[in-house]
Amino acid sequence: MSDIEYDIIVAGGGTAGAAAAIAAARRGHRVLLVEEQNCLGGVSTSGGVGEWFASLDGMGNIFSAVLQEIKHFGLPAAGPRFFNPEYLKVAWQLMAEKANVHVLFHASVCGVRKQAETVKEISIACCSTLFPARAKFFVDASGEGDLCALAGAEFMQGDSTGHRVLHMTLAAWMYDVGKPQTPYLPEGLDPIRSQKELPGLGGGWLIDNNRVYMNATKVLGYDPTAPFSLSEAEREARRQLIRIVHYLQTHDFPTYALASSGSRIGIREGRRIMGDYVLDADQVLDRDSPLDFHDGIAVATSQVDFHSLTKPGDSGWRQKLLPYSIPVRCLLAKGFPNLLMAGKCISADQVVHSSCRMTPTCCAMGQAAGTAVALATEMKARDVREVQVQTLRSTLAADGMELDPKRHKAFAPHETRLDPDDITPNKSSQAMA
Ligand SMILES: Cc1cc2nc3c(=O)[nH]c(=O)nc-3n(C[C@H](O)[C@H](O)[C@H](O)COP(=O)(O)OP(=O)(O)OC[C@H]3O[C@@H](n4cnc5c(N)ncnc54)[C@H](O)[C@@H]3O)c2cc1C
Repeated sequence: MSDIEYDIIVAGGGTAGAAAAIAAARRGHRVLLVEEQNCLGGVSTSGGVGEWFASLDGMGNIFSAVLQEIKHFGLPAAGPRFFNPEYLKVAWQLMAEKANVHVLFHASVCGVRKQAETVKEISIACCSTLFPARAKFFVDASGEGDLCALAGAEFMQGDSTGHRVLHMTLAAWMYDVGKPQTPYLPEGLDPIRSQKELPGLGGGWLIDNNRVYMNATKVLGYDPTAPFSLSEAEREARRQLIRIVHYLQTHDFPTYALASSGSRIGIREGRRIMGDYVLDADQVLDRDSPLDFHDGIAVATSQVDFHSLTKPGDSGWRQKLLPYSIPVRCLLAKGFPNLLMAGKCISADQVVHSSCRMTPTCCAMGQAAGTAVALATEMKARDVREVQVQTLRSTLAADGMELDPKRHKAFAPHETRLDPDDITPNKSSQAMA
């Protein structure tokens, strides 16, 4: 296991990582995709989250192919914004195989070797084996920015009063089994008595005649990048989940059984890695026209979706935003020639992050990062910044990405007011490490 060498290594096979790997591999490059779980898709597959929360058009031909593929399995009654994560696992895997991506499951990126600021090699832990793998370019799509942090990149995390991040959620599903269930609450767990006592975003949504999707647990106050804190968050989520199921079986869904929960808790926000540029709230809020950048490589359309950092329930700040470009500079790890970010760990402040973290946007960013490193490899560049922005943008446009924010629609299904006592979002770009 000592001679593993690729053109490009992508850390994390979530939405952004899978898209990055496919974009690079289909241009003929040797790409290794390293993923901790047993499937691709991240939060939206192994995390059990079954909803797209952004406009679906113009996000690149990888996202449109994914949409097309899962449509073949049939759409739920609730419409194309919802999907079955199990089918999405299949779609991602088949697309990665077709592009000839080498996928390594059950594998964690856990170390980095650099020469000056160039990342030369990563360490991978898999099947009780620790081994190195080398590449010319690396994309960190691990969600929490693990690879960049291991490389010593600067990052931001959480709000300005204590690094509090958006809450974590163990997403889950219930199915109608056609006969009354026996609600049971293990000893020591408090029953939920009313809708008002539900911990998170309601008590589940009926996606089909017989299927309830629960984005319902709300685990506040834990750090998803700290080992023991993350485990405590998982345990708290499981306690909340069974209390919610007990409530739903007693009240709204007496014939529904708990069918599945994410194989790991859903992390909305971890590290935000410092890039060449930080996209911040002042640039995207309260605009008269969409925000464009000369080096925009994807467009975000979702509302601010800033859940309360302190209060349980459905509290938080939701505000419509006009579509805005994400500059490629937000994907370039500051000071590193061959290290990029894609997905929810890009360089943005906490407010912008609450909007650009949505799955369709992460897919577009992944395609952009994968295309950028592919172009850099083709021109034998040492620094990805040698790739002409215009070349990158025209390649993405040819691959189905609509880069003009004016041609996108804002996505804002609901708005709630900012409660300044409750929310102290971090609009600063102060680095932590
Ligand atoms: C509970 C919840 C509900 C959400 N609801 C919606 C919604 O309704 N609609 C919407 O559009 N968005 C939603 N989001 C946001 C969206 O799902 C995520 O922000 C987006 O999917 C992130 O994609 P990603 O690829 O950046 O990260 P992830 O999906 O987190 O993927 C990262 C991948 O990297 C792997 N990984 C992590 N560390 C390592 C490592 N060291 N080595 C190897 N692999 C590693 C992980 O296993 C994972 O597969 C939700 C998020 C959460 C948590």
